[in-house]
Amino acid sequence: VAGYLNRIKAYAHLNAFNEVFDADAIEQAKAVDTRIKAGTAGKLAGMVIAIKDNICFKGHKVSASSKILEGFTSIYSSTIVERLLAEDAVIIGRCNCDEFAMGGANENSYYGPVKNYADETRVSGGSSGGSAVAVQAGLCHAAIGTDTGGSVRQPAAFCGVIGLKPTYGRISRHGIIAYASSFDQAGPITQSVSDAALLLDVLAGPDNYDSTAIQTPYQPQGEVKPASGKKKIAYLKEALENEGTDAEVKAMLTTNIEKLRAEGHTVEPVGFEYLEYLVPTYYILATAEASSNLARFDGVHYGYRSANATDLVSTYKLSRSEGFGKEVKRRIMLGTFVLSAGYYDAYYAKAQKVRRLIQQKTNEILEQYDFMMMPTAPEPAFKIGLEEKDPVVSYLHDIFTVQASLAGVPAISLPAGNNIKGLPLGLQLLAKQYGEKELLEFSDYFL
Ligand code: GLN
Repeated sequence: VAGYLNRIKAYAHLNAFNEVFDADAIEQAKAVDTRIKAGTAGKLAGMVIAIKDNICFKGHKVSASSKILEGFTSIYSSTIVERLLAEDAVIIGRCNCDEFAMGGANENSYYGPVKNYADETRVSGGSSGGSAVAVQAGLCHAAIGTDTGGSVRQPAAFCGVIGLKPTYGRISRHGIIAYASSFDQAGPITQSVSDAALLLDVLAGPDNYDSTAIQTPYQPQGEVKPASGKKKIAYLKEALENEGTDAEVKAMLTTNIEKLRAEGHTVEPVGFEYLEYLVPTYYILATAEASSNLARFDGVHYGYRSANATDLVSTYKLSRSEGFGKEVKRRIMLGTFVLSAGYYDAYYAKAQKVRRLIQQKTNEILEQYDFMMMPTAPEPAFKIGLEEKDPVVSYLHDIFTVQASLAGVPAISLPAGNNIKGLPLGLQLLAKQYGEKELLEFSDYFL
């Protein structure tokens, strides 16, 4: 822990942490040492973990990288934190992220962007950018992020580490600051497949505090055995045709297709007929849910309250106007619009139906194939500060990650080498619902 604390200090300019729990982490480590000596230590003894700053840890600040939560301290711990601590992990700090996890570059944080360790002029990806860089730069063993539409997988891809989004409901959402509740799913960001499997073993499973958590107990995977036998893999045909996809990203996919074929696996192109509806459907539903979830930040219950407020209505208006950033406001307005009386059927209800079609089609493909394969993102990490003028253009960057989110199936981003500039590229695999074990075994094969 002391070693990591020094390294975190040396790399403070990366801006990966919103807060480091210095003294607290040392205390935790001492207690774990005692249990190690007594032979009673848990499965994560010796593991130093960073958590995204939207995961509650009792007695510690949590901000979702928003001004509106400035000064707010968690009054209870998330199930994630409870389970990590019960197995003797040390939690070293809370990581920078996009405000309320809305974004894909970590540039929407009240605390500023996170720098990519591979090239400090570039973004970390997002929204779990701080978590990904903390692992990439060796500031902790592993980190926990949350993934609503790609926020564990895409920053993992940009940083050359592993990011797993489990099946929706696999890990309890209790104590995670909600963005879009029917999508939100936490996941580990790690350097190795075995660490991802170990963290999933500890975090997964039913929880009385989250009715959407999968009720069937999770069978711990234990040591990851590399997949045996020949697999059937569908690669997304459009990923190689899509004009918006970077040439080196396409080449990375092609190389993997050829490698798998050479080793006797069946790899076939499969078109996804709803591809162009993925991003619009995701953004209608996610913003609708966000507009409802973020209604609780009213200047009364949590964090920031405007000093200029004079009555109840101005408390709401001014606290929210001053407390939320631009992108969060945009999404609250968009979500409120798609839920409003005159437009509900045209947008929200329609998007729900399209989501069902996307789920069905994805499941059909995953019944015929063991895995789907595609890039995690259409391009590698881009330069900091090149914020898209048009938000729709940046939303389109999520084209490859939102399918697994809409369908609720597990997906992983694996480091797949670097481009010519030395920037990491990510390869994504999707598996059937509940198929984490198979996914991790097959992932091991790539690394
Ligand atoms: N980039 C996506 C969004 O902004 C995904 C974010 C996430 O998964 N939290 O909604």
